Amino acid sequence: MGRIVSIGECMGELSETGTPGALQMGFAGDTLNTAFYLRHSLGPDWQVDYVSAVGTDGLSDRMVGFLGDQGIGTDHIRRLTDKTIGLYYITLKDGERSFTYWRNDSAAKRLASDPTALARALEGADLAYWSGITLAILPNQDRLALIEALSQFAGKGGTVVFDPNLRPRLWDSVDTMRGWIHRAAAVSELCLPSFEDEATWFGDADPAATVRRYQAEGTRRVIVKNGAEHVTFATGNAVPSTLAIAPVERIVDTTAAGDSFNAGYLAAELTGSSVQDAIAAGARLAGRVIGARGALIADAVQHA
Ligand code: ADP
Repeated sequence: MGRIVSIGECMGELSETGTPGALQMGFAGDTLNTAFYLRHSLGPDWQVDYVSAVGTDGLSDRMVGFLGDQGIGTDHIRRLTDKTIGLYYITLKDGERSFTYWRNDSAAKRLASDPTALARALEGADLAYWSGITLAILPNQDRLALIEALSQFAGKGGTVVFDPNLRPRLWDSVDTMRGWIHRAAAVSELCLPSFEDEATWFGDADPAATVRRYQAEGTRRVIVKNGAEHVTFATGNAVPSTLAIAPVERIVDTTAAGDSFNAGYLAAELTGSSVQDAIAAGARLAGRVIGARGALIADAVQHA
């Protein structure tokens, strides 16, 4: 039996139903999306737990119920009496999605405020997954606490996997973001960045430069996603290699492309695939996810 913990913020998602005045409610968030696809990709010999903080109100109950219904473990989601979950609302105008957020005071900002609870959540896990968004939402001292907890986890043989998911709007400044992202990468054995974001915010000339930059920070393995183009990867000091990915016939909505790629990759790697085969599995899953509307598409997971 293996155990994965995914650490971060899941939010309520409000969107139009098509009926005037009626909204529908879903749940999503980068690390939750990856946990969802890991849960649906891996068999019952893997436990997938979500690590976060929510309130004790009805909305928080509904989110925890949703995660439980998906088969995701909720024992390490802390309940805070004075907070609730973050929300966002999606508007679609001329095919473009835009987002309105209410997340500044969300419970998830406190997900790393209890070091004992954090250590308990990580205890006995094989792999811990987190992202730049997980780090961005925390107060400084909790950023340090989470990095320290993951560093100890890695020291005991756990695998730490990080997606930088660069979101400058969640940070005080781009410089602050860059500094913390590199500190996070330094405690992560595998880093899964997306080239477009990295080129924008770190000025990388090409995906190989992204690989080298994270390796220079101490990440042993780096896999750089690059939309429809290709995936570039390297382990240790090896020269980065590039792998073409299969073309996707129909793109409907690219939400959760990177998150589902990460899950498809990790599920394949954890069940014995080579890096190349795991990259192909990640791209296949992401290709199906972007062929449908929304972040969480259970049907996108097809067992080989
Ligand atoms: P993110 O969604 O995090 O910005 P990318 O855009 O690089 O990341 O996409 C992540 C993965 O999703 C890619 O590695 C690829 O497998 C798949 N993907 C994204 N866009 C396309 C596309 N236009 N055609 C085919 N695959 C795509």
